[in-house]
Amino acid sequence: MQGNRKRDTRPELALRSELHRRGLRYRVDAKPLEGLRCRADIVFRRQKLAVFVDGCFWHGCSEHGTAPRTNASYWTAKIARNVERDQVNGEKLTAAGWSVIRVWEHEVPAVAADRIAQLLKR
Ligand SMILES: [Zn+2]
Repeated sequence: MQGNRKRDTRPELALRSELHRRGLRYRVDAKPLEGLRCRADIVFRRQKLAVFVDGCFWHGCSEHGTAPRTNASYWTAKIARNVERDQVNGEKLTAAGWSVIRVWEHEVPAVAADRIAQLLKR
């Protein structure tokens, strides 16, 4: 979740504006947990919900996450590490009582925002 994660990407901005339109307020690019080396793209601190917007390439989306042909083994290993780190951080957050939602950059922002709003309502 570190490293290749850039903030304010286009899918992120689209999702944020959908959330904002629903009257939801959140922090951007924030650390959900002290002591965990992990920043989430969107954090609902009070409701303990961390949202990650994952790039298809960097996070190994099964639909669009094809590895480049040049240096294929380098990229495959790098992406595998990202996926593993996503999983470990997700588990740590869950263990600390957080909910985690991962949104692919290819997802329709309005649909992802509905998913998040639904979870926050509970
Ligand atoms: Zn994708």
